[in-house]
Amino acid sequence: MASTKWLQGAFVRYVVEDVLLRMRARRDIASRVSIALGAALDQRTGVVWNAGPLWGDHCEPFDLRTALQSALPQIDWIIVNDVTATLVSIARQRREPLTGTLMYVTVSTGIAARTWSSALDGIPIDGLAGLQGEIGHLPVACSFRESVLHGRCDCGGSDHLNAFSSGRGLNFSLRRYAILTRRCSNVE
Ligand SMILES: [Zn+2]
Repeated sequence: MASTKWLQGAFVRYVVEDVLLRMRARRDIASRVSIALGAALDQRTGVVWNAGPLWGDHCEPFDLRTALQSALPQIDWIIVNDVTATLVSIARQRREPLTGTLMYVTVSTGIAARTWSSALDGIPIDGLAGLQGEIGHLPVACSFRESVLHGRCDCGGSDHLNAFSSGRGLNFSLRRYAILTRRCSNVE
């Protein structure tokens, strides 16, 4: 199995090769490249805190922007979370002015949310890690017909929201609900 460091290096090589190929095909030189990455990352610096699906469950923080800048320093690299990128796009495409707060939630391999604040005219982030809306790994209590369910998240943690309500989590929950429903019917 490939190490996390190797996978991160391979990712940087892939991106650099892809950008060079696109520039060659268009006979143009890009001065700025933006990447929307499906990972928890610091919105201010481009440091990826965790990207289990890309680099494994035990990956350490990785300064992706610096790694890309070292490989192709002539380009200004912008790294944003994919949910952030989608919410920015939705907010900008609105015809009517936005007032209050707009929230975008994704349910796929994981669960994430972002909120756009019209008062701040942007996406507020926390001052420590540059994050917002990584709700899939919040611990939750899940029960069905008075039975408490326990599930394992893809990150290895117990009873995180993803364990019950992500794409894979919903499969797990529905199977458990079916078993519990049969048990209740047998008792009745
Ligand atoms: Zn988790």
